[in-house]
Amino acid sequence: MTIVRRWQPALRPFRRITPAGELLAFTERVIKGPLFGCRMCGNCLLQETAFICCMECPKGLRNGPCGGVTPEKRCYVDETRKCVWYAIYKRAQKKGREKTLLEILPPLDWSKAGTETWADVFRQVRKTGTGRFIGSLFSGNEVRKNLIWDSVFKTIRQPEWWKGDSDYHPPAYSEPASDLERSLREGKFVVATEVTPPISADSGKLIRDINLVKPYVTAINFTDASSANPKMSALACCKVATDNNAEPVYQIAARDTTRTGLQANVIGAGQFGIKNILCVTGDNPIIGPAPTSDMNIVDLDSVQMLWILRRMRDEGIYLDGRKMKFPPKFFLGAATTPFASDPGLQAIKDQKKVNAGAQFFQTNLIFEPDRLDDWLEQLDKRDVLNKVYIMIGLVPLKSYKAALYLHNKVPGVYLPANILQRIEKAGEGAPEEGVRIALELIDKIKGKKGISGIHLMTLGWEEIVGRIITESGF
Ligand code: SF4
Ligand code: SF4
Repeated sequence: MTIVRRWQPALRPFRRITPAGELLAFTERVIKGPLFGCRMCGNCLLQETAFICCMECPKGLRNGPCGGVTPEKRCYVDETRKCVWYAIYKRAQKKGREKTLLEILPPLDWSKAGTETWADVFRQVRKTGTGRFIGSLFSGNEVRKNLIWDSVFKTIRQPEWWKGDSDYHPPAYSEPASDLERSLREGKFVVATEVTPPISADSGKLIRDINLVKPYVTAINFTDASSANPKMSALACCKVATDNNAEPVYQIAARDTTRTGLQANVIGAGQFGIKNILCVTGDNPIIGPAPTSDMNIVDLDSVQMLWILRRMRDEGIYLDGRKMKFPPKFFLGAATTPFASDPGLQAIKDQKKVNAGAQFFQTNLIFEPDRLDDWLEQLDKRDVLNKVYIMIGLVPLKSYKAALYLHNKVPGVYLPANILQRIEKAGEGAPEEGVRIALELIDKIKGKKGISGIHLMTLGWEEIVGRIITESGF
């Protein structure tokens, strides 16, 4: 319970509802609003989220924290408040309910938004036994209590069309879907890079950059309007890459994607020969250019995207349950920010992504490789390391200004003081110093157990890829 917590305005129903439904919704709103910050999403998850309403998260995330939690555990969208997911994780751990955080939770059924959830709860309580349920409220036996509560609430939070669980689902195919997957399976230390999508309709530089980096890397990522800044779409860039015989990684940001668009786009991507898909929730529009678009609720989060896409590929079904005759084939990835919260909490979210369908991770930018050890150890404890390939995100810093921008403006990226000092001191020699730092980082990362490769993000400095790869001795 979070009395007098600040909350966003409650949602209203899209359709007219009965007077009895209105009355129940009103009662629920005036009780759950002040107690839990309830926004009347109509798809309640409170029992799963340690009785802290996850809909307070400005992104409306329903499956754990994003990578933008500040070092003070505050929300990067609004630093006046704590990250609600950090609070949920902490409380769940305190109450011994950490395991429940692994259950893959569904996106909203928007037809229920603004309506009450209590009628369903009452129905389920009657089915379970009203006496048993009330008795459980006062029971000191946590195991029994959780069982009874699950029998009431699980049917509500896991509708038929979703049926999320906490289990790992290995990919249901044998031949690698892409060259990236093949190389990783063969145990090669893989290098992927990023080519910056153009900010105009001309693809000349894009083609030049693709051809420049292609000989040195296994795959090329194309971001989906990174930093909430519009550029050429990732899908179009990937098509240009396949036309130029390069293997793309198609990044899809939940921020700009509805569930309908996601499913339609990945089927279309298959037609263009795009075989690697990376699901990210995406930066909040608050860090993008003005005027700021809706910062509020996203239709999906990255975990839900992975769950939907894995089922499309392995079970041949759309989210609505329709069967498809020829399911698409792709290698599924996700982003991760190892230092976003503490390594133990981050590993919970990462395990959830792997269970949902992530086969490879590309991390956010890393400048302190030694700090990776704790995170890798936590993943190992969770038996995740042998289920996912990890590629570490690195950037060659070109200037002090770029270093400061990354440190101050990009959610989840922090540069240690010694690296900032080295780049500042280098002055005009900053690009050389940046390359030296990148090579040192690669050297430290190469030998680490559980690391399968690097993901070189050049931020528009594509010319440097060849030199770094050559000098790092790959
Ligand atoms: S999960 Fe939805 S219904 Fe439950 S408290 Fe939060 S906003 Fe209200
Ligand atoms: S930091 Fe991310 S997960 Fe946490 S409340 Fe803010 S948007 Fe939500």
